[in-house]
Amino acid sequence: MEEWIDDSWIWNLNWRRNRWTKEEIHERELIHRLEGKIPINDNIDRWIWKEDEDGQFTDKSAYLLLSNHNEGDINGVFKPLWKLKIAPNAQHLRWRVFLDRFPTKVNLINKDIQLSNARCILCNEKDEIAKHLFLNCK
Ligand SMILES: [Zn+2]
Repeated sequence: MEEWIDDSWIWNLNWRRNRWTKEEIHERELIHRLEGKIPINDNIDRWIWKEDEDGQFTDKSAYLLLSNHNEGDINGVFKPLWKLKIAPNAQHLRWRVFLDRFPTKVNLINKDIQLSNARCILCNEKDEIAKHLFLNCK
């Protein structure tokens, strides 16, 4: 637990399970951001929903947030993809690559899949990320 020790606030984060490699990176970023930050003793610590003026979560504010988000994705980016006259599995592949959801070696390693290296399976020169694999590989 976090605590005051000799007039210094100590952040001591505890987790219920082991973290994935990607989560450990986020934890280090969090600790870096928390450096020098101390709690204000006079305020009650509570969650605030930033999408509502009162800071209270409401179904309506969540719906509006999701509606706006989806509308932007569908109309701005994905709508032309879904209109392409190609096989659905080809559309799905492009959608996964665009969202970086394709199981490249780097993505697999980030999910703690054990691989010998992250090098591209085709050229063995660069890390295998979707952009390299589909756009830049020789
Ligand atoms: Zn390559």
